[in-house]
Amino acid sequence: MKVFKFGGASVNSAGAIKNVTSILRLYRDENLIVVISAMGKITNALEKVVDAAFFSKPALEAEMMTVEDFHGQILEGLFPQKGHPVFEIVAQIFEDIRKSAHHPIGNYDEFYDRIVPFGEILSTNIISAYLDENGLKNYLLNAGEVIITNDRFRDAAVDWKITDGKISKTVSGIFESPGNPQNLIITQGFIGNTQDGKPTTLGREGSDFTASVFAFCTNASEVIVWKDVAGLLNADPVYFSDTIRIPRLSYREAIELSFFGAKILHPKTIKPLQNKSIPLRIKSFADPLSEGSLIQESDVSDQIVPFLILKKDQMLISFSTKDFSFITEEKLYRLFGEFTRQNIKVNLMQNSAISFTVCVNHPGIKLEFLIKSLSVDFDIKYNENLELLTIRHFNNDVIEKHLKGCNIFLEQRSRKTFQAAYIKFQEPKIKMQHKT
Ligand code: ASP
Ligand code: MG
Repeated sequence: MKVFKFGGASVNSAGAIKNVTSILRLYRDENLIVVISAMGKITNALEKVVDAAFFSKPALEAEMMTVEDFHGQILEGLFPQKGHPVFEIVAQIFEDIRKSAHHPIGNYDEFYDRIVPFGEILSTNIISAYLDENGLKNYLLNAGEVIITNDRFRDAAVDWKITDGKISKTVSGIFESPGNPQNLIITQGFIGNTQDGKPTTLGREGSDFTASVFAFCTNASEVIVWKDVAGLLNADPVYFSDTIRIPRLSYREAIELSFFGAKILHPKTIKPLQNKSIPLRIKSFADPLSEGSLIQESDVSDQIVPFLILKKDQMLISFSTKDFSFITEEKLYRLFGEFTRQNIKVNLMQNSAISFTVCVNHPGIKLEFLIKSLSVDFDIKYNENLELLTIRHFNNDVIEKHLKGCNIFLEQRSRKTFQAAYIKFQEPKIKMQHKT
């Protein structure tokens, strides 16, 4: 049994969904669990719905229409016969979204988890219906019924014991049902439920992790993550030219890369697979027969090339003690306590005698809460719009090539890893002299 994961880019149009269908046909003799994300950039669009609804902005209806029109177009491309029951199902889902959007509940994060999962609900309902219609009978499994989490909304942690029990039982029930066995399960990535049934999400781009949870709980033989690139590359081709494909990599190196922000995999994906020695393949959905990359336990050492990982929209925040007292463990405890409360992840940190600096993903509205709480004890300064470049297996030429002329604010290196937070050098603007 294999677990597949298809991300937003692989299902962003009717044509893309037809391509997924032809990939699934290649594997029709095996038992498959297929984990699917929201289509295209719909999660971002739903985040705008959340923002407009929570803060009662007039843009709400327009943001809703963006989501609705996008799915409407996909439905038209997939189901030319208008009377198909999927139209009714999708209309009902939009009614549910509107109902939730007009009644903001709880805090922002809880409300977010009420709305954003609809992206995955929509994509799986549409794709499941299309597969059924095209000879790939499947069972649409609601991930929320089996992935049980705590209530840390937007970054929920899986309750492994309950989830393992539910997935094993449900999946074997479907694959081995005496009357009507099915060999294709379609389910949503990224989402779960608390034990008392509140929707949760596992963190942005969390569908890879969902695939890995299903694989762990079913002892799958392999996970395949289908991507818009040829496999695991040594850098994101959106930002870097001359990337190379890495055919094989150890779990150890892969977990380091994803931890530093390599977008190819969600950082939580590797551990469950490593724990059960389940290999992970990354393959191109545009070229499904090509080799891709294989991540597995490996006793041969990794092919060592510099890996470049770029994070944009970083913020550097410095906390200085007001009374010239040292940054002690106690002060760090206070700072990290607040980061934890606000769910702010630290990407890089450095301290001096009386100040402590962190590089974090821009915390958005949480910055205000952070400053409010910590400015009692610290003077706080920050810079926005930085980039953070991590180079695994660095050498001086690579550092020079990528950081020449950059204004570096913070730099750190260990034996294998170099990191710098910087602002790209900009030509000084020429001021025009206006004669009066
Ligand atoms: N749809 C979610 C996101 O865009 C989860 C995922 O794609 O993995 O973050
Ligand atoms: Mg995505």
